[in-house]
Amino acid sequence: MRKPLVAGNWKMNGSRSSVAKLLEGIKSGSDEFGAIEVVVCPPYPYISQVESLLDGSPVSWGGQDLSAESSGAFTGEVAASMLLDFGCKYVIVGHSERRSLYAESDQVVAAKYLAALDSGLIPILCVGETLEERESGVTEQVVARQLDAVIDTMGVGVLAKGVVAYEPVWAIGTGVTATPEQAQDVHRFIRSRIAAQDANVAAALQILYGGSMKASNAHELLGKPDIDGGLIGGAALKSEEFLSICKAAAE
Ligand code: PEP
Repeated sequence: MRKPLVAGNWKMNGSRSSVAKLLEGIKSGSDEFGAIEVVVCPPYPYISQVESLLDGSPVSWGGQDLSAESSGAFTGEVAASMLLDFGCKYVIVGHSERRSLYAESDQVVAAKYLAALDSGLIPILCVGETLEERESGVTEQVVARQLDAVIDTMGVGVLAKGVVAYEPVWAIGTGVTATPEQAQDVHRFIRSRIAAQDANVAAALQILYGGSMKASNAHELLGKPDIDGGLIGGAALKSEEFLSICKAAAE
């Protein structure tokens, strides 16, 4: 049985005071998390504040990105060891905004995935197609290519200690959500592709859906057999909305 996971990606939003308020709201509902894992991914400068406020709570935290390098002359970058130093458990890699706005290739994403694993962080690997790719009927090829870039580094076993998030690019921050059937189809495809190489890894892998998930659609999406949780952007910035999604995941 896979444990549901709900991760909030705050992106480049927040301030000291809004972080304090948001976490207060999330913590006030955390008694109901029970059997699910809840994670927040703040911008780097707030990770220390998040660590102080969440330490001892059932909520984990993580980075939104990391460097594939371990240290050195890489201005502006953050190493896995630094995230670990501030209590991070997870890190998002290959978010579509990193891929499209910062030109991260599949190979760079794969290197970041391995850097996270090597240091003991749990990488949340984002994959997903653009609208143009969906309309051209190549969704599965795109997702397969993105997954294979990681698998090809050291074999399918690298997915045993990570999480995959299917995030159709056309649904991210747009308010347009994949239908539960569209999402389930791709989640099933991801699991079956991995199962062809290792059935145990596939069966245990948490596959999250991301793309305008909110309180009003979470229940239906999370009810699908291969959807094991959510990676939440906009709705993770409002504690009530985020808590409703967590509740739907716990049901
Ligand atoms: C995301 O950025 O990972 C995301 C899913 O954003 P949103 O929920 O706002 O679509």
